[in-house]
Amino acid sequence: MPQLSRRRFIATASKGAASIAILGVAACNGAGGDATSSTAAPTTNPGTSAPPQSTTNATTSTALATSAPPATTAPTVGEAFVWERVNLGNVSAYILERSGEAVLVDTGVGGSAGDIEEALGRLGLAWGNLGHVILTHRHGDHVGSIDAVLAAAPDATGYIGEGDAAAVSAPRPLTILNDGDSVFDLQIIETPGHTPGSISVFDPVGGVLVSGDAVLGGAEPGSVAGASPRFSEDMATADRSVVALAALRPEAILPGHGEPVDLDAATKLAELAASL
Ligand SMILES: [Zn+2]
Repeated sequence: MPQLSRRRFIATASKGAASIAILGVAACNGAGGDATSSTAAPTTNPGTSAPPQSTTNATTSTALATSAPPATTAPTVGEAFVWERVNLGNVSAYILERSGEAVLVDTGVGGSAGDIEEALGRLGLAWGNLGHVILTHRHGDHVGSIDAVLAAAPDATGYIGEGDAAAVSAPRPLTILNDGDSVFDLQIIETPGHTPGSISVFDPVGGVLVSGDAVLGGAEPGSVAGASPRFSEDMATADRSVVALAALRPEAILPGHGEPVDLDAATKLAELAASL
């Protein structure tokens, strides 16, 4: 599967940058106990020494990421996830796979289970490999096939952000997620504004961010945009969520609407955040 190998290579190549980005988050917000404990523990490759810690006084993650030396630290968590888009036309769901176990982020509109199954197949997987189904928010174009997906994958656990949980019914109880939680080593970031319980999903090793409707693909190819004013409940809060996501310095952004962005994603998202 050549495309698989290529994606894994890209994700692996970004490990160092992602580790630096997480350090930046911890240094910037000053409160991220979870992020610090799970990803920022210094590790050293055999035969190399840790880079000089010149970044502790950085005030922005941009400064941190650009001034940091090439990473010589190894990632502290496992392998990067491989991602696969489930392109459903107006909306996308995504599959993140690692070691044969898959996480589905969103389920599309009703009737999308067949497309999801095909996307699993492109990764060499089937419903039995699906361990987790994360819903980024309560809108019907994201939760529409939750019943069919959980029926097809009887061992999968479903998840949703706390603020949207009451609005979604599923064939079995959904696990509530809050900021700082993790699912199969994926980091959950609360990104409210589009809806009160909107969440985004981040792979801190590969730097892949699944943004739901908190960050969208922009009108110009390869660009990013903030949440839609037309469809979002609280734009001031939605804008703050974009700023929070920009601090992650993602390598790739996989939005609910629009095209995935995997070229200069961190820079584009930082520029968007600065413009709000
Ligand atoms: Zn939405």
